[in-house]
Amino acid sequence: MEKATIESFKSTFDRANVGCVITKGDRIISTGHNQIRKSRLKSNHFEGSLHAEMDAVMKLIKSGRIKELNGSTMFVSRSMKKGGTGLAMPCELCFPIIQAMKIKRIVFSTATGYSEIKV
Ligand SMILES: [Zn+2]
Repeated sequence: MEKATIESFKSTFDRANVGCVITKGDRIISTGHNQIRKSRLKSNHFEGSLHAEMDAVMKLIKSGRIKELNGSTMFVSRSMKKGGTGLAMPCELCFPIIQAMKIKRIVFSTATGYSEIKV
């Protein structure tokens, strides 16, 4: 979970800094952070952003390692500008993809610690 928080510091998105780490057994298989797609910099549309979860998932898909997601655990952490963490429960766009990729468990930060969902 700490590694997901460290990953969130890489985010330059002004509204939210979210980091994601995907593990299988005790091995980290991918990391990601939220970002604005360069082609959409001039627009403020939500669709122009890439969520941390999808950044981490896409890295595995692009490198032909999609099968490794089966049975994996996803850690998502949102760091707040004032310090501490915020709620990082995967959104309604990311969740169905997480399900489809057969990720079995999601651990996400909250304002007071963390919580988890069994997928
Ligand atoms: Zn999302």
